[in-house]
Amino acid sequence: MFRFKNIAFLLIILSMIMAACTPAATEVADTGEEQPAGETTSEEVKLVGISMPTKTSTRWISDGESMVAAFEALGYDTDLQFADNDIPNQLAQIENMVTKGADVLVIAAIDGSTLSDVLQKAHEAGVLVIAYDRLISKTEFVDYYATFDNFGVGVIQGTQVIEGLDLENQAGPFNVELFGGSPDDTNAFYFYDGAMSVLQPYIDEGKLVVQSGQMGMDVVGTLRWDGAVAQARMENILSAHYTDKRVDAVLAPYDGLSRGIIAALRGVGYGTADQPWPVITGQDAEVASVKAMIAGEQTYTVFKDTRELAAQTAKMVDQALKGETVDVNDTKTYDNGVKVVPSYLLTPYSVDLSNYEKLLIESGYISAEDLK
Ligand code: BGC
Repeated sequence: MFRFKNIAFLLIILSMIMAACTPAATEVADTGEEQPAGETTSEEVKLVGISMPTKTSTRWISDGESMVAAFEALGYDTDLQFADNDIPNQLAQIENMVTKGADVLVIAAIDGSTLSDVLQKAHEAGVLVIAYDRLISKTEFVDYYATFDNFGVGVIQGTQVIEGLDLENQAGPFNVELFGGSPDDTNAFYFYDGAMSVLQPYIDEGKLVVQSGQMGMDVVGTLRWDGAVAQARMENILSAHYTDKRVDAVLAPYDGLSRGIIAALRGVGYGTADQPWPVITGQDAEVASVKAMIAGEQTYTVFKDTRELAAQTAKMVDQALKGETVDVNDTKTYDNGVKVVPSYLLTPYSVDLSNYEKLLIESGYISAEDLK
């Protein structure tokens, strides 16, 4: 009996010593406070997995490079992968990042609804997840969203059509055709809805006419933002509806589509003194499209400074990992079907011949050399 009491006493002392040596992380759990995903107290260098959709559009290359620079400046390691617009490829790359022990995932999804399973695994591994530029849907395991004002991008594009046609002063009617982005990217809907919030009243009034009758994202969407798909659709529209009419404007949500549309128009003789180019919008200020603007083919683009988005993302990650308040400015808009994802929205800018030098060259986003 005496012996047993002694052993019991020893065990109590031992467990007290062990409790005193347990790291602070456990104490956080003891107080009932939930530890934010990814937050740890160890000093080791954290790894950020950066998953970008494709290299076919130059913006994603810039996004990736800017993010590597921004994270490394804050003392993080990075693993940057591009997924060739292939969903299984992106899933495998993300899974691999989790296996390699990434503390953070920054993802610009190809299809935002396909990541639920891999993000479940990321969650179980305590990984912080940021949706980058494109919303990740159908999962609760996305912590923050860093993007631009996507509806605002659409409003800019719709306004560009109105301004390009000088619709406030011209009676019209003018013929316009509408293109949308990829239906598996929620951004495409925000762009289209933003543009239509401006264009629809003019269509209702009869000042703008969609000769093809093709309206609505289910009809005008362009899978994977593919310029060749947009070109083929424009060719069909031109031969079916415009053999005896002129297209006055084309709403295009992305520079890669704009260039496909321009190729289709060129094929039937636009771009001459007799048949000048219609007003054509775009997005991303890609070098090839800025050149097309200078050549008078594309009228507008939208500039979204991906350097700012990368810096904002790195800042949000750093704040989250340090347990600080994360800088968000929108907690209402981006419902991903499971939750409203706290977001930070940056400002997009309209670009045309009058301001591209200031916005793109003077800011260092594009070098004057690249435009030669
Ligand atoms: C981005 C656009 C881009 C498009 C095609 C969208 O999610 O927000 O900037 O033009 O994808 O890459």
